[in-house]
Amino acid sequence: MQRIGVLTSGGDASGMNSCIRAVVRKAIYHGLEIIGINRGYSGFVDADMGPMNLGSVADIIGRGGTILHTARSKRFQTKEGRALAFENVQRFGVQGLVVIGGDGSFTGANLFQQEYGIPVIGVPGTIDNDIAGTDYTIGFDTAVNNVVEAINKIRDTATSHERTFVIEVMGRNSGNIALAAGLAGGAESILIPEIPFNVEDICKKLLSGIKRGKLHSVILVAEGAASGIEIGQRIKDFTGFDTKVTILGHLQRGGSPSAFDRILAARLGAKAVELLMAGETNKMVGMKAGEIVASDLSEVIGKASPINKEMYELAKILSI
Ligand code: ATP
Repeated sequence: MQRIGVLTSGGDASGMNSCIRAVVRKAIYHGLEIIGINRGYSGFVDADMGPMNLGSVADIIGRGGTILHTARSKRFQTKEGRALAFENVQRFGVQGLVVIGGDGSFTGANLFQQEYGIPVIGVPGTIDNDIAGTDYTIGFDTAVNNVVEAINKIRDTATSHERTFVIEVMGRNSGNIALAAGLAGGAESILIPEIPFNVEDICKKLLSGIKRGKLHSVILVAEGAASGIEIGQRIKDFTGFDTKVTILGHLQRGGSPSAFDRILAARLGAKAVELLMAGETNKMVGMKAGEIVASDLSEVIGKASPINKEMYELAKILSI
């Protein structure tokens, strides 16, 4: 293997830059050449790609987002689009590919390898932490820290005005961000799609909290569980409390990656290059119990990563 390509795909996640840096520098350290592909699979189809060097990744370790940009490419989902991508693989002499992204990106990579035989290694980069085969995805820790920072600020207002706040957070179909941020931020209730909830029970808990002197309440709602606005209205209707709703939205994704995300990204990116050099393909690198491991893409794609029930129960006990 002499020349490898790297791309970021799907939603941006903080730490993707740290990962690109690791892939580029690890590859160059081992004497490989590296091609950066812009805008995910869109750039692959459109030949928006070119060589990278040590300087290409200078000063990006602490920057959120991705210098390679990211996109969702409909054309790569077609046979014609992937055929164009393969033409570009040949034109640029790419012999292996590192794909930093989520489940959809891995599905595309897996298919592309099966059709054209180009070795591919996936690196999990998504704030949702919803990928099987790894305890953490790149960007999750930074997103959780962003949410906790927001909870802290909202709590100041909630306490001052003695109000109930509902905060809706991202995560698509996963409650991981809500659960981790809820535990770290001391939320009174955490609503996640993996565990059924009853709004009346939440209201009763709010009322008993007020009885024992609580000045405020923060309810975290994962976007996959319910709409924050709807939950806020139902709480208001049931309790009569002045309930405010904040939808954190894209505030959660960006910002300088946490040290955890930078270290994870560095380790996973370097491992991806090692696997390509060792002749591996259709693998995803991940971290399990602190160790960097590789799983078959086929065992990871489309698999749900389960919620940590023990953490959920603990959050409930601690917010009583
Ligand atoms: P995130 O979790 O951040 O959304 P993701 O990788 O799951 O990341 P998707 O939008 O699902 O994001 O997928 C990214 C890209 O992967 C798509 O735009 C498309 O180009 C490619 N892709 C997804 N599914 C397929 C598929 N079945 N066949 C070929 N390519 C695919």
